Amino acid sequence: MLIGMISSRFSGTQRLVAAYFARRCSRSVAFFSGGVSLYAIRRPRRDLRLEDNPALAAGVRSGPVIAVFIWAPEEEGYYCPGRVSRWWIKQSLAHLDSSLKKLGTSLITKRSTDSVSSLLDVVKSTGATQVFFNHLYDPISLVRDNRAKETLSAEGVSMRSFNADLLYEPWEVVDDEGLPFNTFSDFWERCLTMPYDPEAPLLPPKRIISGDSSRCSSDNLVFESESEKGSNALLARAWSPGWSNADKALTTFINGPLIEYSKNRKKADSATTSFLSPRLHFGEVSVRKVFHSIRTKQTLWANEGNKAGEDSVNLFLKSIGLREFSRYMSFYHPYTHERPLLGHLKYFPWLVDEGYFKAWRQGRTGYPLVDAGMRELWATGWLHDRIRVVVSSFSVKVLQFPWTWGMKYFWDTLLDADLESDTLGWQLITGTLPDGCEFLGIDNPQFEGYKFDPNGEYVRRWLPELARLPTEWTHHPWDAPESVLQADGIELGSNYPLPIVEIDAAKERLKEALSQMWQLEAAARAAIENGMEEGHGHSTDEFVPIAFPQAMQMEPEVPVRNNSTMIANRRYEDQIVPSMSSSFFRTEDEESSVDIRNSVIDSRAEVPIISM
Ligand SMILES: Cc1cc2nc3c(=O)[nH]c(=O)nc-3n(C[C@H](O)[C@H](O)[C@H](O)COP(=O)(O)OP(=O)(O)OC[C@H]3O[C@@H](n4cnc5c(N)ncnc54)[C@H](O)[C@@H]3O)c2cc1C
Repeated sequence: MLIGMISSRFSGTQRLVAAYFARRCSRSVAFFSGGVSLYAIRRPRRDLRLEDNPALAAGVRSGPVIAVFIWAPEEEGYYCPGRVSRWWIKQSLAHLDSSLKKLGTSLITKRSTDSVSSLLDVVKSTGATQVFFNHLYDPISLVRDNRAKETLSAEGVSMRSFNADLLYEPWEVVDDEGLPFNTFSDFWERCLTMPYDPEAPLLPPKRIISGDSSRCSSDNLVFESESEKGSNALLARAWSPGWSNADKALTTFINGPLIEYSKNRKKADSATTSFLSPRLHFGEVSVRKVFHSIRTKQTLWANEGNKAGEDSVNLFLKSIGLREFSRYMSFYHPYTHERPLLGHLKYFPWLVDEGYFKAWRQGRTGYPLVDAGMRELWATGWLHDRIRVVVSSFSVKVLQFPWTWGMKYFWDTLLDADLESDTLGWQLITGTLPDGCEFLGIDNPQFEGYKFDPNGEYVRRWLPELARLPTEWTHHPWDAPESVLQADGIELGSNYPLPIVEIDAAKERLKEALSQMWQLEAAARAAIENGMEEGHGHSTDEFVPIAFPQAMQMEPEVPVRNNSTMIANRRYEDQIVPSMSSSFFRTEDEESSVDIRNSVIDSRAEVPIISM
C-alpha cells in the first residue's frame, strides 16, 4: 500500500522537477550555431573527463570552445564537499586542465558564491552564444540548472544539456503504464531488458579550437586550508585522480579482480572491488564506458562457458545498477536525502545523543569491527561496502541515531561522497525503501567480524591498542581472560572502551522503538480518517528533520582570502588527521598492484583520541 502511495502522490517539488524536465527536453532539440561555445562545468561532480563527454563533444563540433569551471561550494549548503572530496577535485581539475592544454585550450576557473551570475559574466566577457553542460539529477543541481537556463535564455544565450552520468535517463525507465519503479529489482530488470543498449561512449576530441578568453581571467582556486593540506598529503600515495588514470584503473580491474568479484566481494580487507566510485562520482570515467567494457567481457566469458566470470559480471553490473537507481530515486523523490521515503519512519523515536555519536565517529564504541571501520574512514576517506553496511547499521539500529546524521558524516568524510548513493545506502540500511533491509534485524558486529575479518587483520591494522590480542578475542575483547588482556597491555574502559551499548539491550530497545513508531503512525492515520489532519504516507513537506549535532554543523569559519579567491575554511576537528602513515593507504593498481597496507605494520599511525 505504501508503495502505491509513493508512486501516486507527487509533492510540489516533484511536480516542479517533472515540469523542468519536460521543458528541458523540448528546449534541448534546438541548436544554435555560430559564435563561441562555452563548455561549462559547474558544480564539478560528474564530468571531469575528455572521453565520452557529450557536452564537450557538442561544443567542439560547433566551433571555438572555452571551457570554464565555476567553484561555488557555498551553494551546496550542508552538502558543501568535505576535505577529501575537495582534495580529489583539485587533483582531477589539474589533470583535466593539462589534457585540455594538449588539445589546444585551457580551463578558465572561477570562484563564485553565485554560479549562475558568474556563468553569465563569463558568457558576456567571452561573447559566447551557446552554453553546453552535462546535467545532474540531485535536487540542488536541478533547481540551479533550471535557474541558469532561464537567466541565460533571457539574455539570448542557448543552453544545451546532455546525459553524461547515466546508462538511461530516469524518464526512459518506466513500467508499462509509464510510471516510475519503486524497487531496485524491478528497476534493474527493466534496465537490463530495455530494447536498446545505452549509447556507446564517445571518443575524446582530437583537437579543440580555443575561443577568445582574453577578457576573462581565471581565479586562483583554493581547495584546501593549510591545516587540511597536512591531512591530505598522503592521499596522493594511494590515489591518482584524473580521467586518464581512471581509464587505467578500469582496465586494471577488468583484467584482474573482476573475474573473482562475485567470490571476493565481501572480503572487507583486500582489494577485490573496482575502487571506481570516486572516479564515477567525479565523472572521470563514464558509466557507459564501464558498462560496455564489462559487457564485452561478459560476452567473452559466456562464449568460453566461464561461469565464475559470468557471475562476477552480473554482480558487478548490479552494483552499477545501484548507482543508477540512486539517481533515479533522487530524480523522482527529490528530498530523499532529508526525508525517509516511507512515511512511517517519520514517527521513529530516534535517539539524539551527541556523546555516543562522537564515540561512533571516532571509533570508540567498544565493538572492534565498527571502530576499525570508523577509524579507517576518518584516516583515509575510504571504506569497503561491507564495512559501510556494518557501521551504518550499527549507527541506526544499535545506537538509533537519525540516519541523516550518519549520511552527513559519510558525506563529509568519504572520498567518493555522492549525495544520491549515500542517501540510497543509508535509506536501504534503515529500511526506508520498499525493498531495503528490515529495520528490525540487528547484525551483531562480533559475528560480522568472524565473517568478514576472520583473522582479525583488519581490526589489528586500525586499532593499534588491540594489535597484540590473539585472534580468538579480536572481535570480542570483553570476553578475553584478564591475564590475556594484561599481557597484551589492554585495559578495557581505559585504553580501549567497553561496549557502549549491549547488543541484546539494543535489540529490545529497537523493538520498543518500532512498536512506538507503529502506534504513532496508527494514531496519525486515525486522525486523518477522522478528518483532523492532512494525509501522510510518504514524506511530506511538513517533515522536520532532526538537526545535526553542533559538532557537525560545518559552518564556514572566517574565510581565508587568497588574492581574490577564498575557501570556506571549516571548523571540524574530526576531519583533521594530524598523523598518518603510508601503511594506511591502499596503492592503486594502475602501475603496480602492491597493497602497502599489508606490508608495513610497525609504522602504523596513531589515531588521536579527541576528548569528549
Ligand atoms: C551507508 C552507505 C553509504 C554509501 N555511500 C556511498 C557514497 O557516498 N558514494 C558512493 O559512490 N557509494 C556509496 N555507497 C555504495 C558503495 O558502498 C560504494 O559505491 C562502493 O563501496 C565503492 O567501492 P567500489 O568502487 O570498489 O565498488 P564496486 O563494488 O567495485 O562497485 C562498482 C561501482 O558500483 C557502484 N556501487 C556499488 N555499490 C553501490 C551501492 N550500494 N549504491 C550505489 N552505488 C553502488 C559504485 O559506483 C561503484 O564504484 C554507500 C553504501 C552504503 C551502505
